[in-house]
Amino acid sequence: MTSIDACRPRDRTRFVVRTIAMVALWFLPATGTGTAQNVGPHPYRPGIDVLDYDITLDLPDRGNTIDGRAVLSIRRSAQVDTLVLDLVSLRVDSVLVNSQAVTFTRTDSLIRIPIGRIVGDSFSVAVRYRGDPKDGFIIRTDSTGRWTGFGDNWPNRARNWIPGIDHPSDKATVTWTVRAPSERTIVANGELTEVTPMPSGAGGSARTLTRWRESRPIPLYLMVIAAAPLVYYDLGRAGCGVGEFDGCVRQSVYVYPELRDYLPGPFANAPGIVRLFSELVAPFPYEKLAHLQSSTRYGGMENAGAIFYSDGAFRRRALRPGLIAHETAHQWFGDAVTEREWSHVWLSEGFATYFEKLWVERFAGDSAFKAEMRGIREQIIKAPEVASRPVIDTAQTDLMKLLNTNSYQKGGWTLHMLRALVGDSAFFRGLRSYYLANRHSTALTDDLRRAVEASSGRPLGWFFDQWLRRPGYADVTTSWRFDASQRRVVATITQGARFGAYRFPVTVAVTDASGRERRATIDVPASATATLVLPLDLDAAPRTVVFDPDVRVLGTFTAR
Ligand SMILES: [Zn+2]
Repeated sequence: MTSIDACRPRDRTRFVVRTIAMVALWFLPATGTGTAQNVGPHPYRPGIDVLDYDITLDLPDRGNTIDGRAVLSIRRSAQVDTLVLDLVSLRVDSVLVNSQAVTFTRTDSLIRIPIGRIVGDSFSVAVRYRGDPKDGFIIRTDSTGRWTGFGDNWPNRARNWIPGIDHPSDKATVTWTVRAPSERTIVANGELTEVTPMPSGAGGSARTLTRWRESRPIPLYLMVIAAAPLVYYDLGRAGCGVGEFDGCVRQSVYVYPELRDYLPGPFANAPGIVRLFSELVAPFPYEKLAHLQSSTRYGGMENAGAIFYSDGAFRRRALRPGLIAHETAHQWFGDAVTEREWSHVWLSEGFATYFEKLWVERFAGDSAFKAEMRGIREQIIKAPEVASRPVIDTAQTDLMKLLNTNSYQKGGWTLHMLRALVGDSAFFRGLRSYYLANRHSTALTDDLRRAVEASSGRPLGWFFDQWLRRPGYADVTTSWRFDASQRRVVATITQGARFGAYRFPVTVAVTDASGRERRATIDVPASATATLVLPLDLDAAPRTVVFDPDVRVLGTFTAR
């Protein structure tokens, strides 16, 4: 997702502010369900794997009460006697296991279901439930009386309206069946499979059954529906030959009717974005890609096949194309390949951050790309969490605090440096093999490391440890002298003690006495001081020597 660009007093559980000038994010203390859950290396619900959710929701004409039935197809891989499902607050009316009613127990956030007596390792669990979701499914009625409901689950708020295993390690397919007043458009993950008028409800209003099916496994935090009086704008079938399904990717935008004339607006970029990422990585992984005006608390939220953007960005008619690129990149990284543990969320946000910049590089050119990478580097250097915590932050238990400069900007910059280290060819081959090996499944950082080690033929443990498991960045002081006897520049690189010394290649641009620029790359070792000879023959002392002209090292450079 992209971080919050507005604060919404109507959000009941948390109030979040982003100050753009300061870049860093602050989160005020949370109440409710967002905090303190498993981010460590242990399985969330050992021995249990949900394969499919079949969710039926009845939405009200007015008010906040939803009626739900969720049928979970589950595989058990170890002897587990009690199935524990996450569901906050809502009333559970019944639980069936393999169609037999069972006696379950309920806490405010869990359902405990006995499964000790079932035979075999595959079974179904059907949960009937009802109530007003506190969060996760955001119901609002606007000033003109329009009822709207939007799923907004990150990180673990799906449990407020969907009974399930609410952790990114457990991915499943999902069918959504939604019965609602006919004036609402229902959009969800996957492919639209049914729209059927129903007999009128008690209030006499016409109702419609709408069904969507997502046939690729996704985590619960990406399972959403939208239910609002949205109008459809077809972006066409672009990127033909680059889709995982029928070879094309159908894209569309859903907005409130009064925003219809804004379209396609920034979404004119959407086909090119999908084409680029399909070329760089692999075919688009889902049945379609819809972009929606929504009630998400984030700037954008990358729900699989149905990206939700903040209402405010639409109303201001100020939705950035870069935001579309970021959320679209998540369809591959985060959605199709999902971090198995929250502490590895940079595999989602760092990738989306960097792929947004790769789109800039392709469509706006090299100097725009460099300027953006320089801008991100300045944000990283200023961020207090970068100085105090590593990107892979296994000690952080407040998941909202993982949405920080480490996961986004420093994660993206780590990919940028990996690319500089191994070269474009090995970098993109490694990314593709990492993606293809883990597509529709989950991954950890070591999966990426192994893939790029294989594509580059180089051990990279030191690189990943240095940039992702340690706080900080390189603090570099440079000086140089011309050695007339060798006819070469001798560079001295000193690294500050604050974050320790880093190992990195750095390019040096030398403008010789005739005004010609020449470049060389030297390998700086992880030591406090290094003296390195540039492999360039010069007839006389150069006019200037510039370190890291291409913005490829995450550090501060001071010339002495
Ligand atoms: Zn994101």
